[in-house]
Amino acid sequence: MTHPSTTQAERVILIVEDNSVNRLLMAKKFSDQGYRSLILAKNGAEALDLALKNNPDLILMDIQLPDMNGNEVIRRLRQQGFTAPIVTVSADHRQEDIDRSRASGADGYILKPIDFLAFFAKINGHLRPARKESGIPASGAEEGNKAASAPQAVRISESVSAAAKNVLIVDAKEKLPVIANALEHFDEENQRERIKAIAHEYKGIAGYYGLRELERIAQELDEGFKNDEPGELLKKLTGQLARAVAGIIDNETA
Ligand code: MN
Repeated sequence: MTHPSTTQAERVILIVEDNSVNRLLMAKKFSDQGYRSLILAKNGAEALDLALKNNPDLILMDIQLPDMNGNEVIRRLRQQGFTAPIVTVSADHRQEDIDRSRASGADGYILKPIDFLAFFAKINGHLRPARKESGIPASGAEEGNKAASAPQAVRISESVSAAAKNVLIVDAKEKLPVIANALEHFDEENQRERIKAIAHEYKGIAGYYGLRELERIAQELDEGFKNDEPGELLKKLTGQLARAVAGIIDNETA
């Protein structure tokens, strides 16, 4: 059981990860730890832009990105005078890769698959002692990218059978990439249609599983689509939906 500290709630974390499912799961983990200002980037160019715009307190940097190597992103940020800690995340276990990251200006190196207990010990270690106030608010990022008002993890009700639980989890694993993809292409009608269908489905079943937060989000989305609410609001709710669904998957290993 974690209790969000003010310090963590105030920290701005930039998560750079090209895999949409990993990105959402990572955001969920930070959110569970009490972090409230999360900015998500899916490639090197976005990472550079969002880092310089928002001056995060820490960057979590995936090494393998579609447009450029994470180490290259770090090098460029350091050149531009970015001083906050940067921790790289990579599946590459060779010492030379660790050395390469350090040479680029990384402060820490975390190996995949991630052991989250050790992970947050390390992350929190990098964030202590408090940095000087940057004075730059994290409002530059688009709302859909932020987990600012991320819902807390909600446990599947104890009264639900293991088999039913499993059905929900397997289904969530199929839905999460669909939701993540729709989030990235929210301007496309067919993507919004998918979200509409998923929201409607969760609205019907979330209550049975005791997932009140998911139920609330699904209801709001369902009504939002019916009332033709602005796209920005629907996208924001879809971001919340993604984190709630990531929470279902997360429950399996927690
Ligand atoms: Mn990657």
